[in-house]
Amino acid sequence: MRTRVAIVGAGPAGLVLSHLLALQGIDSVVLEVRSREYVERRVRAGVLEQGSVDLLVGAGVGERLKREGMVHHGIELRFEGQGHRIPLSELTGGRAITVYGQQEVVKDLIRARLEAGGQISFEAGAVSLHDLETPAPAVRFEQGGTTHELRCDFVAGCDGFHGVCRDAVPAGGLTVFQKEYPFAWLGILAAAPPATAEIIYAYHERGFALHSMRSSQISRLYLQCRPDETLEAWPDDRIWGELQVRLGAGGGWSLTEGPILERGITTLRSFVVEPMQHGRLFLAGDAAHIVPPTGAKGMNLAIADVRVLAEALTRWYRTGEADLLEAYSATCLRRVWRAEHFSWWMTSMLHRWDGDEGIEHRLQLSQLRYVCGSKAAAMSLAENYVGLETV
Ligand SMILES: Cc1cc2nc3c(=O)[nH]c(=O)nc-3n(C[C@H](O)[C@H](O)[C@H](O)COP(=O)(O)OP(=O)(O)OC[C@H]3O[C@@H](n4cnc5c(N)ncnc54)[C@H](O)[C@@H]3O)c2cc1C
Repeated sequence: MRTRVAIVGAGPAGLVLSHLLALQGIDSVVLEVRSREYVERRVRAGVLEQGSVDLLVGAGVGERLKREGMVHHGIELRFEGQGHRIPLSELTGGRAITVYGQQEVVKDLIRARLEAGGQISFEAGAVSLHDLETPAPAVRFEQGGTTHELRCDFVAGCDGFHGVCRDAVPAGGLTVFQKEYPFAWLGILAAAPPATAEIIYAYHERGFALHSMRSSQISRLYLQCRPDETLEAWPDDRIWGELQVRLGAGGGWSLTEGPILERGITTLRSFVVEPMQHGRLFLAGDAAHIVPPTGAKGMNLAIADVRVLAEALTRWYRTGEADLLEAYSATCLRRVWRAEHFSWWMTSMLHRWDGDEGIEHRLQLSQLRYVCGSKAAAMSLAENYVGLETV
């Protein structure tokens, strides 16, 4: 087997890259360890920055996104029993976010690739990378009991945090920067009409809570919990009880409850490897960096990385110039570190810290009051949240 770009992973990064390359006439093969059904059902992120929406629409895969995505012009911060709206669009010259599930983005991209004759090999196991320091690297994988070898010009490591591509870089080739947080998120998807038109971020003495949505009938909600807690410790009535308390803003507002369709606990981590390249291997998305989800940046960073990579590969194939490929890591890392900082800042402001004697709490309240009371501070949050055009 032979292709120009072997892409490992059919998440947002791998699929957007494959699509952008195809638009430039550059062929690729996507190798995905899971089944199509599995990746199309995996519930994860749901907030698209303006730049991600523009890219998907511009690339011809935004039709359903435009029809079904919910455009939000603001978010709400709740603390001390009161809600405060941050008018994102007003503060950013009209930019907005769109609430549209990551699995819907993935579905749209898979359909577009397959309809255009693109190649996605699902259930490709035992993926390994070879000859990355040569002009003809290879990816080996198993499918249907047979071992295959895919020769290519470049490998795109888009296989997420737990993939194999990052580990294919020889020891000493990457520097890791990471931070673990002493809390996790318990997330649920519920068949309950959202009790809010815009996303609510709540800071409460009992911990952080977030009210988001996926449609007019489905709510997505999160609660801060301990990283060592299990789902067994959180029966439905405890989840709803905590959400009601932490999100409660008084004034007669109450959360709509309903059957819980999905639940899971996600640990929070900041993680970056530098550089995002080794030889002919280019890492993109969660394979290279993780942000705590508080800033809603994970999927957007994955899309931003592969936009840079697609441009660099296009230039290489058109002109033979490697300058953009050589700059790939440095170009991406500027945006990555901005998003890392913003996500850490939002996380620090909105979560309860274990062992806090009261000073953290007061500092956080002071920060929240400042963000909601000062136009300059609100603008800083807003422009990061909708996504900076240049970093
Ligand atoms: C539970 C959870 C909840 C999240 N919630 C949010 C949120 O609310 N907001 C937010 O902004 N971000 C959230 N994120 C982060 C966001 O979903 C990711 O940043 C985003 O998925 C990154 O896209 P990606 O394409 O880089 O990686 P992924 O989406 O992880 O895609 C990687 C793909 O590679 C495949 N793969 C892995 N290993 C191999 C292998 N060896 N061979 C072949 N294929 C392989 C995987 O099956 C997967 O399909 C969440 C993440 C998780 C795990």
